[in-house]
Amino acid sequence: MDDAAKRVLISEKEIERRVGELAAQISADYTGQELVLLGVLKGAFIFLADLSRRLTIPRVVEFIAVTSYESGSVPSGAVRLIMDVRKSIEDKHVLIVEDIVDTGHTLHYLMEMLETRGPASIKTCALVRKSGTAQVDVTIDYLGFDIPDEWVVGYGLDFAEKYRTLPYIGVIDTDE
Ligand code: 5GP
Repeated sequence: MDDAAKRVLISEKEIERRVGELAAQISADYTGQELVLLGVLKGAFIFLADLSRRLTIPRVVEFIAVTSYESGSVPSGAVRLIMDVRKSIEDKHVLIVEDIVDTGHTLHYLMEMLETRGPASIKTCALVRKSGTAQVDVTIDYLGFDIPDEWVVGYGLDFAEKYRTLPYIGVIDTDE
């Protein structure tokens, strides 16, 4: 099923290069500090695995999971926490690591919630952002790529739980 027709949007090589650049930038910005990398499940697991291994600063890895409430197939904008961080983030430098930012509701919800917990700092990193779909303003401090408004899969991203392990980011053909 994973070899069904897809158009490559961002190749494995391009991802590898950009993840390396982001890791170098983050390592430089956090020199002398320990960073909590907070991956947003499930989609960010591969990006987080690659990014975390290329950082040169002390870091720990944590996860959080959220889901969007949907009315029919249209996202309502409401976000629900389904798995919290296991450790306190008080006085820690936190970097939220997201796979994709679309409307911005997920990242906005996470920022609001985590800011109340007294981190030393909190920033955001996303591998891709869709263009022209934002409904709320969120700052992405470290961004991999801007992409068109199409449903993308691969490198952690799914369509009905499929395609997450593709090494590239692709678009499924609509007639599938
Ligand atoms: P937002 O809250 O910014 O609208 O959406 C964030 C979440 O929507 C992402 O974490 C992801 O789960 C899902 N999402 C939005 N667009 C796509 C897409 O093109 N492909 C996949 N696989 N997930 C998406």
